[in-house]
Formats: sequence, C-alpha cells, structure tokens
Amino acid sequence: MSVRVRIAPSPTGNLHIGTARTAVFNWLFARRHGGQFILRVEDTDKERSRPEYTQNILEGLTWLGLNWDEGPLFQSKRLDLYRKATQTLLDKGFAYRCYSTEAELEEMRSAQKARREAPRYDNRHRNLTPEQQAAFEAEGRRPVIRFKIDDNREIVWNDMVRGKVSWRGSDLGGDMVIARASGEDAIGQPLYNLAVVVDDIDMQITHVIRGEDHIANTAKQILLYEALSAAVPEFAHTPLILNKEGKKLSKRDGVTSISDFQQMGYTAEALANYMTLLGWSSPDSTKEIFTLDEAAQEFSFERVNNAGAKFDWDKLNWINGQYLHALPVPELTDRLIPYWQAAGFEFDPVSDRPWLEQLVNLIGPSLTRLPDAVEMSRVFFTQTVELNEEAGAHMQQAAAGDALSAIASALESHESLTSDDAQTIIKQVTKEKNLKKGLVMRSLRAALTGEVHGPDLIESWLLLRARGLDRLRLQQALKKS
Ligand code: GLU
Repeated sequence: MSVRVRIAPSPTGNLHIGTARTAVFNWLFARRHGGQFILRVEDTDKERSRPEYTQNILEGLTWLGLNWDEGPLFQSKRLDLYRKATQTLLDKGFAYRCYSTEAELEEMRSAQKARREAPRYDNRHRNLTPEQQAAFEAEGRRPVIRFKIDDNREIVWNDMVRGKVSWRGSDLGGDMVIARASGEDAIGQPLYNLAVVVDDIDMQITHVIRGEDHIANTAKQILLYEALSAAVPEFAHTPLILNKEGKKLSKRDGVTSISDFQQMGYTAEALANYMTLLGWSSPDSTKEIFTLDEAAQEFSFERVNNAGAKFDWDKLNWINGQYLHALPVPELTDRLIPYWQAAGFEFDPVSDRPWLEQLVNLIGPSLTRLPDAVEMSRVFFTQTVELNEEAGAHMQQAAAGDALSAIASALESHESLTSDDAQTIIKQVTKEKNLKKGLVMRSLRAALTGEVHGPDLIESWLLLRARGLDRLRLQQALKKS
C-alpha cells in the first residue's frame, strides 16, 4: 500500500505556522515512504473563505519547498460528493433531520449550564415520527442533518504519535451536525467532519497527520468511516506550537503566518529547517541543520514528541544565520540587493556588482536576517556618517585627532590604496606618533563608520575608498575633533 497523505488548510487566513509545520510533517512522511502528498483546500465555509488566503497558502507552501503531488483540490467544487454521502447516511439510518431552532437549542444549553452539565445536544429529534417531521416542515422550519453518536461507544485508535487513544462517545457532545439547513428536504452545506471524511476516503488517504487540536474530531470521524463502510486510516496528532508562556501560539503573539516570517527576512530553507524541529528531532540529536530532503531520509513519528513544542526565536535566528553564512556570496548578494534598493541606497546593481560582493563578503558573516544588511551597510552607501555615542566620546581624545590627521596626510600620497598600503599607513602612524595601535584603529574606524566596533577595518576602508568616501570621512571627523 503506498502512502498517501494530505494537508487540508482552510483559506480563512494566511498560511499559519501551525498549518505549515503540519504540512512539513506530512511532506517528510510522504517523501520518506515514496508516497504522495496531496493539497486540499477546505473552503466550504463560504463566509470566511477568501481567494487571497488560498493564494497566500499556495505561495507559502511553494516558497517553503513543500511541493505537492496532487491538487489543489477545492472542497467547494465537490459538494455533490458530500450530499451523496449524507444521503447514504440518511438512507441507512445513521443520520436524521433535526428541526430544533436556535432558540430551542439555546434554552437547552442554558438548562444544562444551570445543572452544571457540559453543553451537548440532547438528541431530541433522533426518533421523530413522519407526522412530527411533517408538522415541523409545515411550520417552515429548516432541518439540519445530524449523525447519530452512540454515547456508549468507546472509540479507540493507535495514534502514531500518542499511542493508544480512547474517547467516550458520551464526550462528543451528542449527535453531530454534518450538514447545515437548507430548504425543503434538500441537503445543505456540509460541515467539516463530514467533508473531511468523504474526501479522505475518496482521495484514498492512508495516514491523516494533523494538529492535536483535532483529536476529538478524529473520534467523530472514525464513526463516520464506519458508517460509510470505509477503511479507517492511521492517525498522527502532532503537538501544538506554544508561545513563551506555554500557551498555544495564536494571532495575539504577533508574527504567526509564513508570509510574515518571509517579510521579516527569514529564508525559506531556515524556516523549513526550524519547523521540522518543532516537535521532531533527528536520531542524531546534535544534528540541527538539514534540508527538507535530508530530514525526510530520517523522519519517523517515533521521534515526534507528544508534548507541545515551544517556539524559540533565538533558535530560529541562529538557524537562519547558519543558512545565510553558508550561502555563496553571489547568491547572498542577489538576495540583499532588493533590501538595499528598498532602503533607497544609490548603486548600480550591474556596474557596482564587484563592490557589492565585496561588501557582502564583509557583512555576510554577521547577518542573522536579510534586512539586518540595511543598517550594517548604511555607512558604505551614504555620503556622511553620524558618530554614535561611543565613537563621539572616543573622538574627544586629543590622540584621536593626532592619529586621524597623520592618516589623512599619509593618504595624500595614495591615489590608490591596497590592503598592504592601508596596513602600512596604520603601522607608520602608530610608530611616528607613538600611539597604541588599538587607539589608531579605533579612531580610524570611528571616523570612517561612526562606530568603534564593526567588521574588518581594512576591508571596510577599502570599500569606502572604492566609493571615494574615506578621505571625505577623515576630513569630516577632523573638522569635528
Ligand atoms: N481544515 C482543517 C484545518 O485547517 C483541516 C484539518 C484536517 O487536517 O483534517 O484545521
């Protein structure tokens, strides 16, 4: 039997990190077993589903490298299938029409609340006579279709993550609605549990891998599989993603959708890598950096934790840095150019390319996220530079001025500047002025970049020289000191 799994997002919001992580686990499992990964868009909720969310979801999955083998299939185009299944359930006596009004249901729930009972439908219309039905119809009531849930049933399955799970029928809230109201005796819009089961049967899904928040749905769905005489697939309920406080990560935590992470300058590879670690670990637990293909070779549900997975920004940042540092300079340059352009820096992406790559060579190893490059490289693009507080204080020393004027005059005889020239100038000034080399270098760095710390000084100097900025900066600093 070949493995067939699916990701079934509802387009009621942008691609959420929780859904994306579930997609990662499905994808890894499919690839590990040479199976098929299917994309199904669960858009039966007409009010909340939007085409722009569908687009965001498809783009997000594509960006992450989670390519699907079949789909996207849209539930909204498959309504006939759900209606047929509902009719079968009605015909076989597994489902019935319920005419309770919203007001009646509300009254029932408040009575239950007063008795301190959990809210549930009390199955009051399970055995209506044809006369009672006709009377409700005559009143103009529109029925929903409910599926019978036996309170005495114990539903048991062997979960690939959680082991044996058992659920009592009496904890499922009474007979469940599987289709909404519609006129006459037609069948209305199908609800989630029914549509999912009909689709999973039709698409021959062998393993249903989804978030732990669906456990109670799984119990209900197993009853539907049985009633529809279909084989029950395997289930894996993956741990929830938690915030710092240990609560389910939600919109209130700010960034939660994949497009947000993308905009923040995380790379797809790093984010996908990080998501595999949200609940799973490699058999070699020291190994944390891998591509999706590499993870797929080792993936198994035995190594998926059943406790919630805490979202750890530091770890994501670290992983992102690892990816950025490993990128070849030309590729990193390609990725940074749009950020510099958006920042309004002036350069020509073609003729300045060698200089840009030199700049990337310099700042690349310090990047955590792509947009960091804007502030890190600002001084190389702009004419003037503001001294930060530390650099300003440093420049108050008379020795700083001495060092800078000596460097400025040494530079007069250097129409071009090599790395060796730069080193020699620093050495000479240190010796002639009898200053500490550290002070000379800090003064030079402060004048050139406005800061006393930063990446390699000689490289920074050469980059500024190439833009004709080093002498200018020295003069500006001398004026101020
Ligand atoms: N549309 C459901 C969701 O987004 C799918 C759950 C499932 O995988 O069955 O949560």
